[in-house]
Amino acid sequence: MNVLYDDIQFLPGVGPKRADLLKTELQIFTINDLINFLPFRYIDRSKFYSISELASAQTAVQIKGRFLTKQINGVGAKAYLKATFTDGTGRIELTWFKGMKWVNSMIKPGVDYVVFGKVSDFHGILNMTHPEIEEFSKFCNHPQQDFIGVYPTTEKTRKANLNGKVMRSMMESAFNKIGLNGIVETLPKYILDECQLPNLESTLRTLHMPSNLNQVSKAQFRIKFEELFWLQLSLAIRKQNSKENIKGFQFFRNNDNLLPLFYKEHLPFPLTKAQIRVMSEIRKDLESGKHMNRLIQGDVGSGKTLVAVLAMLMAVDNGFQTCLMAPTEILAQQHAKSIQELLAGIPVNIALLTGSTSKKARQEIAEGLQNGTIHMIVGTHALLEDNVQFRNIGLCVIDEQHRFGVAQRAKLWGKNTTQPHVLVMTATPIPRTLAMTLYGDLDVSVIDELPPGRKPIRTAMLRDSQRQKMYDLMREQIAQGRQIYIVYPLIQESERVDFKNLEEGYQNIIKAFPEPQYKTIIVHGKMKPAEKDEAMKKFASGEAQIMVATTVIEVGVNVPNATVMVIESAERFGLSQLHQLRGRVGRGADLSFCILMAGNKLSQDGQTRLQTMVETTDGFQLAEIDMKLRGPGDIEGTQQSGLPISFKLANLAKDGQIINLARSIAFRIIEKDPHLLNQENYILQKGLKERYNQQISWRDIS
Ligand code: ADP
Ligand code: MG
Repeated sequence: MNVLYDDIQFLPGVGPKRADLLKTELQIFTINDLINFLPFRYIDRSKFYSISELASAQTAVQIKGRFLTKQINGVGAKAYLKATFTDGTGRIELTWFKGMKWVNSMIKPGVDYVVFGKVSDFHGILNMTHPEIEEFSKFCNHPQQDFIGVYPTTEKTRKANLNGKVMRSMMESAFNKIGLNGIVETLPKYILDECQLPNLESTLRTLHMPSNLNQVSKAQFRIKFEELFWLQLSLAIRKQNSKENIKGFQFFRNNDNLLPLFYKEHLPFPLTKAQIRVMSEIRKDLESGKHMNRLIQGDVGSGKTLVAVLAMLMAVDNGFQTCLMAPTEILAQQHAKSIQELLAGIPVNIALLTGSTSKKARQEIAEGLQNGTIHMIVGTHALLEDNVQFRNIGLCVIDEQHRFGVAQRAKLWGKNTTQPHVLVMTATPIPRTLAMTLYGDLDVSVIDELPPGRKPIRTAMLRDSQRQKMYDLMREQIAQGRQIYIVYPLIQESERVDFKNLEEGYQNIIKAFPEPQYKTIIVHGKMKPAEKDEAMKKFASGEAQIMVATTVIEVGVNVPNATVMVIESAERFGLSQLHQLRGRVGRGADLSFCILMAGNKLSQDGQTRLQTMVETTDGFQLAEIDMKLRGPGDIEGTQQSGLPISFKLANLAKDGQIINLARSIAFRIIEKDPHLLNQENYILQKGLKERYNQQISWRDIS
């Protein structure tokens, strides 16, 4: 019987109470769970720092010296102990708010102490609060651990003092019990050799009981590699599966007649090089007879819609119906309108279906879809409803696909007996490393070029006190016939206050622009669809010059005459959202502006974000920075993906090279041995089953 799966309670040094804490707080039930619970960093106690070099210390440090003074200040609950400590190179203040009587009694003059804690620098005076102290002679009398692991904690484990030292003694006890060769390797030997990875046993021993940092980083590399490798392997298999098992409709070039007609007589401008390249990638897929599962990534304004329309025309040419699904009503309407304009004079019947489509119209659409007289349908989630049935749908396009859940998207694929081709689009550029993970099983096309003639948008950050400057710019632009967006944040948690701000903002604008020829409209999510629609129409037609709105306009709205985007309380938006909003302007030939209005109280983080916006217009670059600032878990779309993207050690923002390595090896393995049937890969097949059977549902994600 393998001791690895023994209950943690019976490990020497654990006992029922601690076992209970480990189980409920940290999900550690067995010895195996325990040794796989990893420190995420280490405290370095291998050296003593001198006080003169402490100002720049980032983590807790260890110093050696003597106390100069000590004094209890304040009385009662406000009492605290303050001491000065020196090592000859400088001084530091040590403060205790708790346990001060005991600490006070410990401190003797003229005796050497070891002090360990985190340094803060308060107006040039160095300080440690609640450091650990120990007499140097005692310190020398017990064995030293140079590197102490810092493990994930919870409030309860901190209270119970389940610190790195305690964890380490449990780990030692666990490895004693397991003995040598008790830990079974999880990766094939040829991968360990190729990537020069330490084996699992020595990796785990090193991570819990390190003796030098070089060893630690090799062990961490192995764990990160492995975490990313399993995920990439599962993606490789998924991709392979869908290639093998899902037959796709085959489109034929000699069926084309609408497409050439459109190209020759209706295309309003030449395609960009990037559009042409992506179009040919799509064309290859559609003609291959295999199922297409492709993502188009392209910055706001890069012209994804046009590419989608061309692909949709190919479907119609080949006798299939096609749909375009968008996340909001406004966006769906706008898509329908612009597609109708683009395809005017071409015999394609286009319908629009949203939540506000009338019952009667719905009925007609349902009939048209079933008898095939409707060729293209544009819509919102309404398209997913069961009563939307097609005669023969061959291609589904999803705009801003990260706004839809996995299950929602999957519903669309079920609308024909053979899965329709899938084209998903996103204007939220995501970092490459994240794309390789989230969309690891899709083929990805990138439109990395904006249509010619676009001028970069000038971005500035203004404080509330500089509001007049914003009005001046607005006035100047309106006088030139341009239009303006003003966007307010509106989130559920602070909905009331936000709403009040929006209303007030609207009133202020009306006051600031009292001239009868200037019209301001307000648009927000609480308005009835018809009202919203009417307001939007006024803006789109140029009848209104200023739109005050919440983020309902974030996605896709296209008014080329708008040249100013003012974002109120801009510090409350994430980088990718700010980028999306800024993308609403700069769509015409005129120079455009984005004004980020920041409250007078601005956090460091907010400052960094807004400054980044001022300096950078490249969406992909912004996405990289966003991921570094917020971590991959908060990037839009990662939650809905259902993929495990938070790891014990690997970090999608930082470990790009390891991802590349893991991905290339995983995809190579699956290419050579698609079902992992080779003897040497048996271990992989087993490992995958253990890891992902419960976590990832093997339904196609897109
Ligand atoms: P997005 O990629 O953000 O969805 P759109 O498809 O809405 O971008 O296109 C943005 C604008 O660029 C639209 O007004 C569209 O008509 C225009 N556009 C698209 N492709 C071209 C092109 N090749 N040349 C000039 N303008 C283009
Ligand atoms: Mg778009």
